Amino acid sequence: MSKIIVMMGAPGAGKGTQARLLQERLGLPQISTGDMFRAIKRAQTPLAEEIRPFMEAGGLVPDELTIRVVEERTAQPDGKGGYILDGFPRTTTQAEMLERLAAAQGHTIIAILVDVPFDILEKRTTGRRDCPICGEIYNIYFRPPKVDEVCDLHPETRLRRRADDNPETVARRLETYERETKPLLDYYAHTGRLHHVDGTRTPEAIYAEIEKAVTSAK
Ligand code: ADP
Repeated sequence: MSKIIVMMGAPGAGKGTQARLLQERLGLPQISTGDMFRAIKRAQTPLAEEIRPFMEAGGLVPDELTIRVVEERTAQPDGKGGYILDGFPRTTTQAEMLERLAAAQGHTIIAILVDVPFDILEKRTTGRRDCPICGEIYNIYFRPPKVDEVCDLHPETRLRRRADDNPETVARRLETYERETKPLLDYYAHTGRLHHVDGTRTPEAIYAEIEKAVTSAK
């Protein structure tokens, strides 16, 4: 049966990196609400103005708007064989909506928690950089580019740091995660659909474990 793979984890846990690997190797689309909201925020539209304050404060975009964006994106034909959700659901209301969506689309849900201790998360986020051309993700502490602040594959391009990866906003995002999103882990665990993976190992080792969980789930 086709699956919705829900990637869960605190900010900086590496769920985006794993979602990208799953997309490349399983051929399922990666649907990242964070990426979609960042793209919306860059445009000069009323919608951009609406979401900016929430994102810049390290809070959540309101459920109603988030759900609308996810409904539209997952209705695209590329999601027919299943898809990977990165950054959604993040609240109980969103999780309830996903149950209805999965039933309507004929998909089963599997949730993967990429688990990383709190003290590592801060360096993961504040050190994170990405290439605006290819989206490759670096970290100045753990995975630096060959030359400071430029992409290995696009040497003419300076890496960027996300607006919300500054220390103050990171602290708020971690609080928001604890309060709003962590309770969802119990919800998926109680329904037997949560797989824990140790997110402190190498991306390849983490990936191998996730792929095994995904392919053996019904
Ligand atoms: P993180 O690295 O914190 O997991 P993301 O890239 O997934 O960040 O998301 C960046 C920001 O976009 C969040 O801090 C939040 O403001 C907004 N956002 C992303 N997904 C959701 C969602 N499902 N519900 C509400 N807001 C969201």
